[in-house]
Amino acid sequence: MSDQGITERCYCGTVSMSTTRPPITVAFSHCSDCRRWTGNPAPTFAAFDPKDLSAEPALDAPVITNPGVERWNCKHYGSPLAATFEYIPDQTYTPLGLIDQADQLPAEIHCFSKKQLPGLHIMDDATRGIGSTCDALIGTAE
Ligand SMILES: [Zn+2]
Repeated sequence: MSDQGITERCYCGTVSMSTTRPPITVAFSHCSDCRRWTGNPAPTFAAFDPKDLSAEPALDAPVITNPGVERWNCKHYGSPLAATFEYIPDQTYTPLGLIDQADQLPAEIHCFSKKQLPGLHIMDDATRGIGSTCDALIGTAE
């Protein structure tokens, strides 16, 4: 991580986010919801403590399509910005692709790895988990 901490912005530049703290974890999510939300066949997210992450302008009303899951998008061009999951308390997930320092943040975990698209061959040493980062972090990963 650079001395400036973590900085990120959406595609159009309307929304910027930053934190001085490193991510709690960096994780692929192979679930279909994250795939559809981001349009990415292998969505990757950095998780931050919501108390450490600031957004300018502040994130307002989230989109809620599943109970317990809140997702924020840029109001102008729709870039995915952030998500929270009731089952992973005290963490805000932001798409890795928004982060200026993404090249310094390798993923540590593949969540929902059994749902990974069969044509993807990601050659890394990240842990393969069958559930969320919450499951992986508490040791129930496969
Ligand atoms: Zn934008």
